[in-house]
Amino acid sequence: MQETFDVAVVGGGPAGMMAAVTAAEKGAAVILIEQNDRLGRKLRITGKGRCNVTNDCPPDEMLRYVTRNRKFLFSALFRFPPEKTMAYFEALGVPLKTERGRRVFPVSDKAADIAEAMVRDVRGSGVRVLHARVKTILRDGGTVSGVLTESGEHIAARAVIVATGGLSYPATGSRGDGYRMARDCGVAVTPLSPSLVPICTAEDVSEMMGLSLRNVTLTVRDADGKEVYSELGEMMFTHFGVTGPLALSASAHMQENPVPSYRLFIDMKPALDEKTLDERLCRDLKENATRDFCNSLGGLLPASMIPYVVRESGIDPRLKCAGIRREDRQRLCRLLKAIPLTPTGFRPIDEASVPAGGIEVTALEPKALAGRTVPGLFFAGEVIDLDAKTGGYNLQIAFATGRAAGEGAAAFAAEEQKKGEKKMNGNIRIAIDGPSGSGKSSLAKKIARELGLVYVDTGAMYRAVGLYVRRHDVSPEDTAGVEALLPDITVGLEMGENGQIVLLSGEDVTSLIRTEEISMYASLVSKIPAVRAFLTSQQQAMAAAGRIVMDGRDIGTVVIPDAEVKIFLKTSPEERARRRYEELLGRGEDAVYEDVLRDIMKRDENDASRDVAPLRQAEDAVVIDNSGYEPEDTLREALEIIAKKRELF
Ligand code: C5P
Repeated sequence: MQETFDVAVVGGGPAGMMAAVTAAEKGAAVILIEQNDRLGRKLRITGKGRCNVTNDCPPDEMLRYVTRNRKFLFSALFRFPPEKTMAYFEALGVPLKTERGRRVFPVSDKAADIAEAMVRDVRGSGVRVLHARVKTILRDGGTVSGVLTESGEHIAARAVIVATGGLSYPATGSRGDGYRMARDCGVAVTPLSPSLVPICTAEDVSEMMGLSLRNVTLTVRDADGKEVYSELGEMMFTHFGVTGPLALSASAHMQENPVPSYRLFIDMKPALDEKTLDERLCRDLKENATRDFCNSLGGLLPASMIPYVVRESGIDPRLKCAGIRREDRQRLCRLLKAIPLTPTGFRPIDEASVPAGGIEVTALEPKALAGRTVPGLFFAGEVIDLDAKTGGYNLQIAFATGRAAGEGAAAFAAEEQKKGEKKMNGNIRIAIDGPSGSGKSSLAKKIARELGLVYVDTGAMYRAVGLYVRRHDVSPEDTAGVEALLPDITVGLEMGENGQIVLLSGEDVTSLIRTEEISMYASLVSKIPAVRAFLTSQQQAMAAAGRIVMDGRDIGTVVIPDAEVKIFLKTSPEERARRRYEELLGRGEDAVYEDVLRDIMKRDENDASRDVAPLRQAEDAVVIDNSGYEPEDTLREALEIIAKKRELF
């Protein structure tokens, strides 16, 4: 049997890893699904390669730096404040230090140490890691049941946490995955914010139009040189300036002052500090000593960017590499760490090339970050419509929401498992009786699916006998003739791929027993006491196994008189005739309403007037009169009846 996980986490970034280890710590069986070949790829190069893990301040103070949906974060942040993030990493053996503005970094200044510590924690917690791209979230009856990967693999899980990152998620082609999954499940995603727009620049960057940069850091500084935004991610050049996730997010931080008062800087090598980059450049130049300088930059820059960068550096492009002076090289290095751009204004909102926004916070319950309308679905990290200033706050949001979602999902999964076990343990036999066409079998099937019971359609058994009698040219009213056939008949019910299969002496007759003619045969042979005795004993043997829902005419009165739940369906003959008439027309059959009504009334009379086991309501049956009901209403009422009865045993 396929393994069912308690929790599947989609996305192996800081929020996803935190969610996974938290759920595992709470005892859940967890799978973490990441499409990149490494966990925490972005985390390894964030904060200019140093990783500003959090901000050492109390949670209430931190909330002041949250710029979007501050209130929503309250619960998660107070339960897992910066202090706990710091304790978490220290406990994992990563010493931390606090710098200016209470920004917290690893003492080693290596973002990779933070990422590696989390990966170790993931492995140590027994979380299963799968590298695959999730295509959709699977649901069963509205509740989450797992995920489907792009390669078609079904992963069964009681709860799913979406932690796919936000706009600046750098992985190839993954933009907006989490938003799409949410939308598919009916969870709202905020529309493009008016503050998320492409940026025009004074510099002519049109020669790089269409070039997409990944894993770069874009920093925005105000007129005083103060950093107002700095994020790692993806951006793109256009004929007018820049767009893509980073540029769009940056624009939201350039609202307070006139646009031209800000400056943008692109760090092409966020994972390397200036010294390391200089060493690298030095090596490249040495290796290419006899080549033109401009031809030696291919290892560091995309080809279409080289002419622009060389011009900006002011170095003669025809110089041989060996002829580059130290100060030129250092200038180039500084440029690669901060290519300046001068914004002149914004482009209209409809030109944004990336679906922006985030999971609408009103669609989530703030304590566990659970989707309000989709049981079992949780969200964590940047995918949620939350935002804060720079200074370690955004990573803190990822850890706090990851923690909350991990706890919430583990608790949800445990609850679901308990429910499932209860379902498995309780022996329950449900009898559903009622006249032809009252919707018994569709109700019984739904109940069986909902509660994990075996469904037995006793009418189909009478129909199979009717078919046998018809095939042997015996009149269904010839009691002795029918009785004589019985020793040769075996009727079986089996579960097939598309529902129950009816077997007559081993032959699959499922599709042959639903004709009007066989309905009448079944109705007539069912009056014969020997036929009833023959089928009743088989039905009783089936019911003895328990965990069954059986529908017919005499289930609550004769077949299982001690059934735990008995439901009697009532529907006016006119409504049953109308349903049947529409069904026949739908199948393209020629039907006359009056004929259908007459047949129904005839069968009612046969069922109610026969001597043995006539159709009647058991004294302890609960009646559902479903005239005028939608099918869901009948199911809901039946499930309520069952739930009430179950409390009693
Ligand atoms: O429920 P369905 O219409 O398929 O049943 C076919 C016939 O079998 C009915 O007309 C009814 O007379 C008979 N039947 C019965 N006792 C049952 C189930 C069905 O007499 N428990």
